[in-house]
Amino acid sequence: MSALPKVYINGKFYDKPDAKVSVYDHALLYGDGVFEGIRIYSGKAFKLIEHVARLFESARSINLEIPLSQEATIKAINDTIAINNKIDGYCRPIVTRGAGSLGLDPRRCSDPQVIVIVDDITMYPPDLYENGMEIATVSTIRNHPNALNPRIKSLNYLNNILAKIEGIQAGCLESLMLNHKGEIAECSGDNIFLVKGGVIRTPSIDSGILEGITRNTVIDLARNNGYTVEELGLTRHDVFIADECFLTGTAAEIIPVTKCDARVIGSGKPGPISCELREAFFKLVRE
Ligand code: PMP
Repeated sequence: MSALPKVYINGKFYDKPDAKVSVYDHALLYGDGVFEGIRIYSGKAFKLIEHVARLFESARSINLEIPLSQEATIKAINDTIAINNKIDGYCRPIVTRGAGSLGLDPRRCSDPQVIVIVDDITMYPPDLYENGMEIATVSTIRNHPNALNPRIKSLNYLNNILAKIEGIQAGCLESLMLNHKGEIAECSGDNIFLVKGGVIRTPSIDSGILEGITRNTVIDLARNNGYTVEELGLTRHDVFIADECFLTGTAAEIIPVTKCDARVIGSGKPGPISCELREAFFKLVRE
């Protein structure tokens, strides 16, 4: 295994310290670009086609043309995983608007940078997966979909970072964000699920969320296991009266939540359906 990660930029590989972009890139100046986060299990990128499709949809939505086809992007990602000999890890494809002038006009940008980073990731301490984590509702609301649609996985993550800061200040590693209607939307980097009376519920896409690929995987797993899954508008009331709560995300995978806003959820321990879905998820990724 090589010590220094090799980073793909526009068809070439660079050692981590040499992997650089222009300070005039609008990704740096304005957060103008898109990205993905993909897990690598047993040397294979999990749900790669879905992640690349979402990357292209994010780019399309911000009127950014990725200078590669989806097939070539998949190859670049697979090549970067291979050159890094990565068996279990994390992959971060990024597409920037490219270097431009000082000023917003994206037409002045040339040379978008297609970057693929492959490295390790640890989200939360292992004991939280066993015993459940605590989250806090924060006052920073999720971006209004008509301002910056949360479905776009853009390089502008300040909305999420501000929420994360508030959560940390409240002593929680993840923050629950509400939408402009006061409904629960999602956490700063994870989607949220509730279980009530054996039914699994999660905010719908039009609650203003990122359509998580782990979320969709878990919905499919749950339905295959015979559960009813509802996608709908939910409020903090639903969180407080839930039997179980868990979060999903590429980096977080599936993590149980046992407290929200200092209130105990359900029994205060990871619930049986959360645990069943976690097991089913790990079985799937090992396949
Ligand atoms: N919501 C947000 C805001 C995210 O950034 C992410 C990804 N980290 C998720 C949800 C989960 O999405 P996915 O399962 O596709 O990683």
